[in-house]
Amino acid sequence: MKRTTWLIMVTSFLIVTLVPTAVAKPLNDVSGHWAERYIINLADTSVMGGYPDGSFRPEANVTREEFIKCLIVALKIPVCGAVEPSYDDVDNTSWSFPYIETAVASGILKPEESVNGMLKPGEPIPRVEVARLIVRALKLSVKSGYTGYDDGINIPPSYRGYVGIVKERSLMSGYPDGTFRPWNPVTRAEASVILVRLIYESGKGTGFVTICYDHSSESIFNNAFPLHQSYGYPGVNYILPSNVGNRGMMTIAQLKEMEQAGWETGSHSKNHLHFKDLRDREISQQLSQPKEWLQKNGLQYASFAYPFGFDTDPYPVVSEYYESAVKCFGNKINVPPINRFNLERIMLDSGLSNDELTDLLDQAVIKGGWVIFYTHSVAEAGQTPANHGINQQRLNYLFQEIKKRGLKVVTVSEGVSLKCF
Ligand SMILES: [Zn+2]
Repeated sequence: MKRTTWLIMVTSFLIVTLVPTAVAKPLNDVSGHWAERYIINLADTSVMGGYPDGSFRPEANVTREEFIKCLIVALKIPVCGAVEPSYDDVDNTSWSFPYIETAVASGILKPEESVNGMLKPGEPIPRVEVARLIVRALKLSVKSGYTGYDDGINIPPSYRGYVGIVKERSLMSGYPDGTFRPWNPVTRAEASVILVRLIYESGKGTGFVTICYDHSSESIFNNAFPLHQSYGYPGVNYILPSNVGNRGMMTIAQLKEMEQAGWETGSHSKNHLHFKDLRDREISQQLSQPKEWLQKNGLQYASFAYPFGFDTDPYPVVSEYYESAVKCFGNKINVPPINRFNLERIMLDSGLSNDELTDLLDQAVIKGGWVIFYTHSVAEAGQTPANHGINQQRLNYLFQEIKKRGLKVVTVSEGVSLKCF
């Protein structure tokens, strides 16, 4: 397979899939700012946008009600309907009333902690309160009262556990001198960083990854399979029947052994031809013959990888021949309900940098999305990979990064049954 253009990838850490604000203008006051990357990623969303004049005002303070709204929107918490006001100074005519009551209903805000029933919604929110709100919003458990900061003594004991946990999870950072400065107001730039980290933290463990191997190379059995086994990650083999059993290619017995270990076998077409150059009848042969061959040899035919991307939309013959798994694999066989922003398919070879690779995984975390990697062969550690291939070190790096993020590794069929977008 070749890489299709729509996959050309995301270079930024974060694109949040929330409704964009009405202000689409580029921001005019964040270029070169230390938090630029976070601000730009967040400003395209309804979590925290720019102002109608094109500014973002990164050094302005965030008020209590503004931060609470951002938190509710960032975590996509459904906003409550009408209720009795929980605070004396936020009634139901206030713009922030629904967000504040949603925060109360979700246990993020506790009216009993207020002084004289007041929230003071328009005042700048101090760092220590932000820490408490985000810990509650993420439902993280507070273990101890140790903050880890040099000025921990200045932090009221009831807040210390929250400050400790946001440090431990890298949700908020302290100052270079080792202090937390609990009562400092939070600027919009600082809030952007905190919200990006919060969105990331809330998505951990929800996305998943699939690793596919095309063309039946024996190196998959020899070099990739053992590494998959050591991590407990299944893989997917897409085979060209005419290759199986040839020199340097996998055998039927090897494919079966991998299936026993949870791998999936699928078809990579009969002759690896450009489907767009073929007639419907020829395509149907490309699809049906390997499927029959796989069945006859006692292998799965769980899904199908077309050899080259389609440049035009739905190809009826392809979707006619293959079932749900196929329909969701690769967005070009565009049978709803595929959401292409939640599914990325990309070649894992030397053309994909480590930064791009980790960005893809981060995207899967943030969106709860699905990344499908594919490659042709896996060389031994220390060896130069073949064209469109990788070596064991690269595969191990990928697995480490997947593990770090708590992403699930699934076969194509499992991915489809988990989430058909
Ligand atoms: Zn191919």
